[in-house]
Amino acid sequence: LKEGKAEVLHKPGEAFYNPAQVQNRDLSIAVLREFFKLRDEEAASKKKDGKEEEKHQRRVLEGLSATGLRAIRYAKEIEGLTEVVANDFSAAAVESIDRNVKHNKVEEIVKASHADASLLMHKAKQVEKDKFDVVDLDPYGSATPFLDAAVQAVNEGGLLAVTCTDLAVLCGNHSEACFAKYGCTSLRGKHCHELAIRIVLSSIESHANRYKRHIVPLLGVYMDFYVRVFVRVYTSASAVKWSASKQSMVFQCTGCGAYHLQPLGKVVERGNSIKFLPSLGPPVGELCELCGYKHQLGGPMWSQPYFQPEFVGRVRAQLWGDQAGFASYKRVCGLLTALEEELVDQPLFYDLSVLASLLNVVCPSNAAFAAPLLKAGYRLSHSHTSPMAMKTDAPVEALWDIMRGWVKDHPVKKLKEGSPGFRLLQQESKHIVDPDFTVTAEQRKEDKASRSTPKYMPNPTPDWG
Ligand SMILES: [Zn+2]
Repeated sequence: LKEGKAEVLHKPGEAFYNPAQVQNRDLSIAVLREFFKLRDEEAASKKKDGKEEEKHQRRVLEGLSATGLRAIRYAKEIEGLTEVVANDFSAAAVESIDRNVKHNKVEEIVKASHADASLLMHKAKQVEKDKFDVVDLDPYGSATPFLDAAVQAVNEGGLLAVTCTDLAVLCGNHSEACFAKYGCTSLRGKHCHELAIRIVLSSIESHANRYKRHIVPLLGVYMDFYVRVFVRVYTSASAVKWSASKQSMVFQCTGCGAYHLQPLGKVVERGNSIKFLPSLGPPVGELCELCGYKHQLGGPMWSQPYFQPEFVGRVRAQLWGDQAGFASYKRVCGLLTALEEELVDQPLFYDLSVLASLLNVVCPSNAAFAAPLLKAGYRLSHSHTSPMAMKTDAPVEALWDIMRGWVKDHPVKKLKEGSPGFRLLQQESKHIVDPDFTVTAEQRKEDKASRSTPKYMPNPTPDWG
C-alpha cells in the first residue's frame, strides 16, 4: 500500500488503515511544512532584532500511530525533522510500526514507542527539551482523554494537531455526552459542524488555561466524518486572563433558529489599564423576539476566529505547489479556498434552505438573497462546511426582512397559525424594507471568478469514510 512517499505493509485485521484519511494526512503534512517555515521566519526576525537565535530541534509526536503511516510520511515528506515518535498503546500496532519504519528506511528519524500516550506526554512535559514541537492526536473517536497531557507536552509556540471523529456527539445528537467529554453543550442546526470545531477549540483552551497556557488557532476544518484543528500553544499568565472573553454561550431559538452569543467574560481597556469583568447579559429575552419560542442554551464555544486566512493561504499554496506529492490536493485545496473566503470574524451562520422552509416558500438562489444584503452594506460569505450557508454581520432581523420581501412575489404555501414562520411573516421590516433581488454586476464578476475553483467536491466513492 503506497501513499505519498511512504509504503505500508498492511495485513488485514492488523492496525487500522482508513484510505479516507489521505486528505487528513496530506493536509497535515502541508500544515507542518508551513508551521516549521513560520518558526524559521520568527527565529530569523528575532535574530535581526539582536536576540540570540533559538536552535530548534524538530521533534514530532504522533500519539496514536496505528500503522505508523502518518509518522513515516512526516519523516519522508517534511524537511529537516530530527525525530518523529510513533506511539501506540497496542503491541501489535507497534510491531507493525517497526516493520514499516524498516521497510521505508526511516529508522534514523522515526522511533516506534509502545506506551500510553498520556503517560508519554506527561513524562515529556517535565523537561523543556523533551517537549515536542508538534503533538499530533488522531484517535478514532474523541481526543479529549489526551488533551490535558498534550497541552503540556508541546513546547513554547509549538503546534498541537487534534482530530475528533465523534461528530454525532459534537453536533448535538448527544449534547449531554458532549458536555461530559468536552465541557461544552452541543446544539443541532446546519451550523453544527462549525460549532463542533469551536467546541473542540474551547475544550483545548480550557485544558491549556490550567497550566497558564493558551491557544492560537491556525486552521480548523470539518471534513467527511471528523473535525481537525491545528493550534499553537503559548505560556502567558496575562494572556490567559483574556480566555473567558474569547468564549461564548449560544442562545438558539427553538422556533426560528435565531442565535445570539453570550460571551463568558468582558474586558474593559482604558489607556494602560485593562479590567477583566463578568460579562453582562443575557442577549435575549425570555422568548424569541422574532417568533415567540423559547431558547436552547449551548456552549461554551470558542468565539474568536478559528483560522488565520493568511496561514490557510500558505497551506493551500503548499498543496497546490506539490501536486505530485499530494494525492488529494484538489479536494483539500477546494476546501481551503472555501475556508479562506469565510468571514473570519463572524461565528456560525444561517442556512438559506432553512429560512425558506420555515416560511414554506420556494428558496431564493444564493445570489438573489445576497443582493439586497450586500446593497445594504453588510458583508456575506458561505462556510467551508456548507455551500448554502449565509455567514454575515447583518442582524438576523435583516435576513427575515429579505425573506418577507421575497414572499411578496413568491406565494407562501399554507402556514399553521402560531408557527414560527407564521409569526415571522407578521413582523415589520426595519433593516431592509424593500429588498431588491437584482443580482449586481459585481456579484456576477465574483461568482464567475469563484466558479473557476471547485470548492465542494463530492466524495470519491459512495461509502467514503
Ligand atoms: Zn425565534
